[in-house]
Amino acid sequence: MALELIDAHCHLDCEAFRDRVPEILAGAAEAGVTGLVSCATQPDEWGSTAALAKAHPSVAFALGIHPWYVTPESATAALRLADARLMGASAIGEIGLDTHADAPMDLQQATFEVQLAMAGKADLPVVVHCRGAFGELMRILRSVGPPARGGMVHAYSGSEEIAADLMEMGFYFSMGRSLTYRNSKKRVQVLKRIYPDRLLLETDSPDMPPVELSGTVNVPANLPYCLRAAAELLERPEEEIAKATTANARRLFGLGKAGR
Ligand SMILES: [Zn+2]
Repeated sequence: MALELIDAHCHLDCEAFRDRVPEILAGAAEAGVTGLVSCATQPDEWGSTAALAKAHPSVAFALGIHPWYVTPESATAALRLADARLMGASAIGEIGLDTHADAPMDLQQATFEVQLAMAGKADLPVVVHCRGAFGELMRILRSVGPPARGGMVHAYSGSEEIAADLMEMGFYFSMGRSLTYRNSKKRVQVLKRIYPDRLLLETDSPDMPPVELSGTVNVPANLPYCLRAAAELLERPEEEIAKATTANARRLFGLGKAGR
């Protein structure tokens, strides 16, 4: 049986894929990846990411300002995301908090809060990146309230307890490379807690290749590596996980059969 997978988090509008997107998507389709959600990470990419998705029916997209690219102008620039739905976006992202980013945490928080508010205005879910800042993330979500249309935390690295709190706030979780390490008891606990209803698969291409392919440029066609690892860790059949994660991605992002 041919699997239908959705890469819930990747970056197709990137230097590594310049002029290669049709070839990258053909490889993905061959691997069973029939839908993709491509995230823009800064305002300069919003127009080109939207154009790329419009040219390829399997690609949905998210618009946002990633914590790595936060500047003093970001909170104002992010106000334009109120129109993200009109621009065709399926989510606001990639947004969030990262203790390794250059921008100071207060600036990241201010930008994140504006983007959460814009997700409310645009009536879209959010795609969150959170590294080393789960305490801050939970504090902000509790103070402004959970996003009305839910969201996902990509490359989820938090605890089972925080996952449970986020699930109550309507969040899904994607994992990619981290699954392929197959070495963490904590991760298996988290996986069992979020599966089947809240797990998504992601590659985060062109970054974060599965450990089997370390050192290469990651592509959406590698998603089956993450599926295989999830199947091993959850001790469930690949077909079942494919079905559940694809249904979850469609529900969260409002994707139609063709991906969008
Ligand atoms: Zn990403």
